[in-house]
Amino acid sequence: METKLIDGKQIARDVRAELKEKVKKAVSAGMKAPKLVVILVGEDPASKIYVNNKEKACGWVSMKSETLRMPAETSEEEVLAKISELNADPEVNGILVQLPLPKGLDEQKILLAIDPAKDVDGFHPMNVGKSAVGDASALVSCTPLGIMELLHRSGIQVSGKRCVVAGRSNIVGKPMARLLLADNGTVTVCHSRTQDMDQILKEADIFVAAVGKPKMFRGEQLKDGAVVIDVGIHHLDDGICGDVDTESCMGKVSYITPVPGGVGPMTIAMLLSNTWQAYCTQNNYKAD
Ligand code: NAD
Repeated sequence: METKLIDGKQIARDVRAELKEKVKKAVSAGMKAPKLVVILVGEDPASKIYVNNKEKACGWVSMKSETLRMPAETSEEEVLAKISELNADPEVNGILVQLPLPKGLDEQKILLAIDPAKDVDGFHPMNVGKSAVGDASALVSCTPLGIMELLHRSGIQVSGKRCVVAGRSNIVGKPMARLLLADNGTVTVCHSRTQDMDQILKEADIFVAAVGKPKMFRGEQLKDGAVVIDVGIHHLDDGICGDVDTESCMGKVSYITPVPGGVGPMTIAMLLSNTWQAYCTQNNYKAD
């Protein structure tokens, strides 16, 4: 069987090109460009790279962006005061607090302070709840949202399919399962306490691996012709790999996302898409 690679880089480019067009239209109709504000507390080197990438990506689609860099010793009160200022600022459409936060800052409390209408990461319980009841105004976690986009744009049907999600984190596994279910998939979630995972994997038409363990899954464990979505990213001495051993899947599965170049590029594209969605809702703007 020929295994097709799902080109996340290209699909992310397509998403960005469409967004750029929409922003251009809104601006030429006299509206302001959407604006994303990222709060970065502390000096975590990986976070600095992620934040720079987010700023760059906003530029690609002609959105405004601002990064508020706060020192590691910033108090919780100061971060909360800044969020409340941004919540009230009509110029700001999306707010994102880059995680992880330095020790001493209560992540949950800080994320809860973000106005759900501006919560472009989709982590606020209000958005999680809205998404769970199928409210289309929900802002949904970017990585699983990007995976749905990869499936749809690759012509892969979810409805009626057996979908297996390995991992139950709040940012990937759980929202992934909700989105697949909303698209009429028959969904099973596996996690660290799951028994007989091999038996469950064998049934998967669509398999999403999000466990954070390098090359944990192999082609032999999967059904012939399965669609494999590899969310893992691991920087090893001999290069970057995912949670799936890609090589062992070639010739066995129908589609697979490469690492890098599969799921990764979609995450930032969907952050832009969420910022656009937040902007449209806040301005009661309907793009055609
Ligand atoms: P996490 O550590 O929060 O969650 C891992 C999940 O895997 C847990 O729910 C756990 O129950 C499950 N798990 C652990 N060991 C298992 C096992 N042996 N069998 C079955 N399930 C097991 O991780 P996360 O934040 O969900 O991220 C998962 C992976 O995805 C990581 O490699 C992360 O780097 C990557 N990631 C990539 C992107 C992207 O944009 N591509 C975004 C987010 C996360």
